Amino acid sequence: MYDVETIRKDFPILSREVNGKPLVYLDNGASAQKPQIVIDAVTRGYAEEYANVHRGLHYLSNLATDKYEGVRDVIARFLGAKDSEEIVYTTGTTMGINLVAYGWAMEQLSAGDEIILSVMEHHANIVPWHFLRERMGVKLVWVDVDSTGHLDPQKVLDAITPRTKLIAVTQVSNVLGTVVDVKTICAGAQAQGVPVLVDGSQAAVHMPVNVEEIGCDFYAITGHKLYGPSASGAIWIRRARMDEMRPFMGGGDMIREVHKDEITWNDPPMKFEAGTPGIVQQIGLGVALEYMMGVGMENIAAHEAKLRNYTRSKLDGLNWLQVQGTTANKAAIFSFTLDGAGHAHDISTILDKKGVAVRAGQHCVGPLMDHLGLNATCRASFGMYNTEAEVDTLVEALELAHELLG
Ligand code: PMP
Repeated sequence: MYDVETIRKDFPILSREVNGKPLVYLDNGASAQKPQIVIDAVTRGYAEEYANVHRGLHYLSNLATDKYEGVRDVIARFLGAKDSEEIVYTTGTTMGINLVAYGWAMEQLSAGDEIILSVMEHHANIVPWHFLRERMGVKLVWVDVDSTGHLDPQKVLDAITPRTKLIAVTQVSNVLGTVVDVKTICAGAQAQGVPVLVDGSQAAVHMPVNVEEIGCDFYAITGHKLYGPSASGAIWIRRARMDEMRPFMGGGDMIREVHKDEITWNDPPMKFEAGTPGIVQQIGLGVALEYMMGVGMENIAAHEAKLRNYTRSKLDGLNWLQVQGTTANKAAIFSFTLDGAGHAHDISTILDKKGVAVRAGQHCVGPLMDHLGLNATCRASFGMYNTEAEVDTLVEALELAHELLG
């Protein structure tokens, strides 16, 4: 039995007030709040167990190294990876995708090669590929979503040509909430020898993920959306792809030997992890993922599906509100405008006065905004601790915004 009230007690910030009202935190798509055990792990990491990793032969360094390295197994379990050596630590999805762009794609692609992207990708899964377009003459091929925000996997596969070298696609849109059938995309792509990178930033928060079942080549996650510390994260890279990669960043830890005229690299995954990492952040991420798995990803998904249905029915009743992304298979992420043209910042300011935190703006999805013909939306994005009562507060605050702005 999923007891949301018990879960809420694990997150201290949820009991605070904002602008004299109880906080209704609906900006989880931007970053999620942290349970006390993650906060405690971070505090303990600094207060009692801190030293640099991989370097010392002293007690604290060994302790920090064991804890830090132990998180690789947790992430592997969380993602259904066969081998924790396929987990490369990052500071988040942005770094993970840049690692693939610089470390793999720059090695494997040449001028005229094509990368397929959906129109609803986040800038983190667009800009690194634009770098390759600018520097190497790689071509970006865009696949549109339909009017409900659904991405037809067959349309993605139909875009494959003999020059296609990569498909890079999100599993859940951070704006529309659309869940993409990445498994079908990967099966079709694999049959034609095309690697697939999945941006799992939003998906891994809301549903069980198994990279082997998905059949992708790269799967990026970001810790701060997974109830973990900011600047924590990982990318799962299939071993065969790792073997095709050069390191992206150079420095300590990623080398075996350095001489004046020669260097040799460390084995993966450390080959891709240069310099002192986010030691405590990564330890905190391990605790956050254990927490999520303890609650159960299936249970979280079921709770959020109920919240999504409830929110959908409530927002459908507001005929002056346009929800973007009406496809049935979506996560509990709702982007909306009041009159189809804007006021997103005004709406969010009014909601804030009622204690309701949402995001307003472009959401780092330029091509999707162009596709929708919008400058900005307001976005309410839900997490494991949100409740139907909070949806009611959102709706009341929206009614006030409509009264004041309509
Ligand atoms: N992809 C998606 C779908 C996202 O929602 C985000 C964060 N908004 C990112 C990538 C980038 O993640 P980060 O900023 O944590 O690297």
